[in-house]
Amino acid sequence: MNIMLNMVLYYSGGLKGVVNNFFQDKEPWQIVTITTTTVLTSVWLWNFIVQQESIFERGMKQIYKLARYIPSMRDKINQGLSNVSEGFKKDALKRLQNTPFIIELPKEGLSPDEVIQKVTVAVDLGDYDWKSGRVSGTVYKKDVNLVNLMSNVYAVASYTNPLHPDVFPGVCKMEAEVVRVACKLFHGDKESCGTMTTGGTESILLVCKAYRDYARDVKGIKYPELVMPVTAHSAFDKAAQFLNIKVRTVRVNPNSYTVCIKSLRKAISSNTIMLVGSTPNYPYGTMDNIEAIAEIGLKYNIPVHVDACLGGFLICFMPNAGFKVPPFDFSLPGVTSISADTHKYGYAPKGSSIIMYREKKYRHYQYTVTTDWPGGIYGSPTVNGSRAGGIIAACWATLMYFGYDGYLQATKKVIETSRYIEQELRKLDSLYIFGTPATSVIALGSKQFSIYRLLEGLNKKGWNLNPLQFPCAIHICVTHIHTEPGVANQFLNDFRAELDKILKNPNEECGGMMAIYGTSQSIPDRTIVGDLTKLFLDSLYDTPDK
Ligand SMILES: *Cc1c(COP(=O)(O)O)cnc(C)c1O
Repeated sequence: MNIMLNMVLYYSGGLKGVVNNFFQDKEPWQIVTITTTTVLTSVWLWNFIVQQESIFERGMKQIYKLARYIPSMRDKINQGLSNVSEGFKKDALKRLQNTPFIIELPKEGLSPDEVIQKVTVAVDLGDYDWKSGRVSGTVYKKDVNLVNLMSNVYAVASYTNPLHPDVFPGVCKMEAEVVRVACKLFHGDKESCGTMTTGGTESILLVCKAYRDYARDVKGIKYPELVMPVTAHSAFDKAAQFLNIKVRTVRVNPNSYTVCIKSLRKAISSNTIMLVGSTPNYPYGTMDNIEAIAEIGLKYNIPVHVDACLGGFLICFMPNAGFKVPPFDFSLPGVTSISADTHKYGYAPKGSSIIMYREKKYRHYQYTVTTDWPGGIYGSPTVNGSRAGGIIAACWATLMYFGYDGYLQATKKVIETSRYIEQELRKLDSLYIFGTPATSVIALGSKQFSIYRLLEGLNKKGWNLNPLQFPCAIHICVTHIHTEPGVANQFLNDFRAELDKILKNPNEECGGMMAIYGTSQSIPDRTIVGDLTKLFLDSLYDTPDK
């Protein structure tokens, strides 16, 4: 201890000497100027280093950007990008079976019959037979009665807008009831609260905003960081980009594919505004150890968000449907918020999700308020100003139509079917399953062949599964449609047949579109992969006029 103290004194004395020496023959104005410049430079340097993107990431981006200034390189890249772009556009047209585009308003309005006819044609385009359960996730239930109910409900409520509670108080009431019902399902107490949103992404965007502003206000955090598993949904990256939050991703355990708790604790800093866990995550369908994350959150006084967007409306019914689930909701004191999508396993039409908080203090930071606008004092709870009252009513109606028992039965069927498919797939020893599927997502990989070939092969048989990367893998998200008689076995039969075909020639490379997907993982310049993705999005808005 004494040695340490002496060293500090010695060095600080030494430092003092150096500084005094340096300024010895300087005039006061010089001392002021040098000091100010040094301080300002340090601040600038600090701000340059501490940014949302790490200095390494920015450096790499700059290098790739510069490489594109080399003419030969630039021409090659541009040629490649333009080829891919043409390919994307052709694919888009093929999906639309070359139906002509409308590129301006019809001079006279169409009759309702014509409109309906055209909409029906548009909606029926596409080769995948989702109604027979050929698609992973996407549409979670097929129920004619529900669809009819939805169109009636939407017809009644389509012109309503909760932005005007004085004009449409009942729509606001329905939203409040949806939130209260959800809070109850996730064991929130009287203090628990939330809002409806337009989807999981908005729920996540809002919870990140709430915690960012809470951290700034209460803890003075100016350089917010969010700590999440690599498997957390890309909506968190989107939120971080929107909100200028730095993302610290945490690896998953090699066998369970759940977040490594030790690494998560290490990733926490004085700038951490929130911790994230998923129940389950999208890629592997595995469930993070929420109990452990919640405990860390309590210990370090950091809010913990549980992303139950995908599995929320399964997992909260699973215990009573006879399936064991570790605690994950507000029953854990450290869990401060939960997102759950009604438009997934809540079976409501697309466009609704719920963000819930343990305490009202967090929700206040979600709100946006402008007090000095000439248009009036403006307070809005979510991203949008005007909101679709029709969607709120439709979501409310779906919850009422199902009731607790309806969801319980649906959950039982979905989980039983998932477990059956999982059990059958585990019998195939050329494959492995990632961790233990917690709800309805089963992810597959293989050490013997390129798993994307299986995806391609199944695709040719009409099945639409999802590709994963780092490492190459695929997954199926089992929906209520897969629980209908014969669907699961049809899937398994096609799967086994395709697998047998591949195993006759296990070393063959993957062809087709999936080859590009496979290759893209080895492109070190992720900005090119990003450019390609933007071109793909562009192709969806292409409206060629011949
Ligand atoms: C679907 C999903 C989201 C985002 O939901 P959207 O409704 O598509 O915006 C978030 N997290 C998980 C785990 C999801 O599966």
